[in-house]
Amino acid sequence: MAEVVLRQVTKSFGALQVIPPLDLTIDDGEFVVLVGPSGCGKTTTLRMVAGLEDVTTGAVLLAGRDVTAVRPGLRNCAMVFQNYALYPHMTVRQNIAYGMSARGEPADQIARRVEEAVTMLGISDLLDRKPRQLSGGQRQRVAIGRAIVRHPDVFLFDEPLSNLDAKLRIEMRAEIKDLHRRLGTTAIYVTHDQVEAMTMADRVVVMNGGVIEQAAAPLELYERPANRFVAAFIGAPSMNFLDGRLEGSGDAATIDLGAAGRVPLAATDAARLANRSVPEVVLGIRPEHMHGGEGTATIDVLPRTVEPLGPHKLVVGHSGGHALTAQVDPHFPAEVDRSCRIALHMDHAHLFDPQSGQRI
Ligand code: ATP
Repeated sequence: MAEVVLRQVTKSFGALQVIPPLDLTIDDGEFVVLVGPSGCGKTTTLRMVAGLEDVTTGAVLLAGRDVTAVRPGLRNCAMVFQNYALYPHMTVRQNIAYGMSARGEPADQIARRVEEAVTMLGISDLLDRKPRQLSGGQRQRVAIGRAIVRHPDVFLFDEPLSNLDAKLRIEMRAEIKDLHRRLGTTAIYVTHDQVEAMTMADRVVVMNGGVIEQAAAPLELYERPANRFVAAFIGAPSMNFLDGRLEGSGDAATIDLGAAGRVPLAATDAARLANRSVPEVVLGIRPEHMHGGEGTATIDVLPRTVEPLGPHKLVVGHSGGHALTAQVDPHFPAEVDRSCRIALHMDHAHLFDPQSGQRI
């Protein structure tokens, strides 16, 4: 087990800097997920920890040891890839044992570790099959088995579930999480799927353009996003953002949403923003923090589409020029092109600075 430290790490490909100075410490035994849109630098960051990519400047430390100049095979990290990277001509047993055999480890130790790994992964009956005789989920288990037998200091996962269908992804993410609980090994996991990030991570690192926008526990990210980018990225359907102006103070503090009307601020927000000099704000409200009908803060919405999803209904429309999506009771009588009243739960509202996008 090991702590992982990225210290002022940068990465450039030619003249193009894709990672500006980045600092990140992953605690011993922690399961950290790197998440963000395509091209934000997740894989590059992971590969720099593995040593598969050199850092341009800065340092990588594993278990307190500076490994910046150490080649991948000597870092004791085990990487699991999206495409499994299994040898097609070898059996499951040979694939899992390959690294240990290549290092000349004793046969009884190899057999013991392979046995331990396949039991843990529930694939003991597949040992003599070749990869082509396995399903996608079974292949990924073999790839994970190959990582487990190394007893690595750190597991590195690069979108390992991307090639699996939706149902299997849900099963496998629970299995990987359970495996982590049992082994307690430090893990860094890359995905572009925010649900995967939220469900698996002890801590989620949200990246954007090579920069860490926020690193926090899943619930903290959801409840207190540091900025508009994180607020929009975490949660589905995405948070609504409505431009407005603060007016009044104390109990009379409201946000003027223009043609959509005024909504009262929650008391804690009103107190915190009492001395704000700039009246312009962005009100962030999640679809699930709205309901159809009356309330203390309401707006009238003209639905463009109404989507019955079973447990709830999505109303997608606009209000006074603000586009928005509300998640309402499945029986709420919303109809396309017929204005309906929607209440906002202002206790769950988020406020952002329109210029910087930071939470205020
Ligand atoms: P994805 O989710 O699409 O895999 P990512 O967040 O993992 O994206 P990276 O693969 O780390 O992103 O890429 C970060 C940036 O670096 C991208 O702009 C990419 O085009 C660039 N990049 C990655 N590898 C190279 C390379 N070998 N040469 C040049 N540019 C590269």
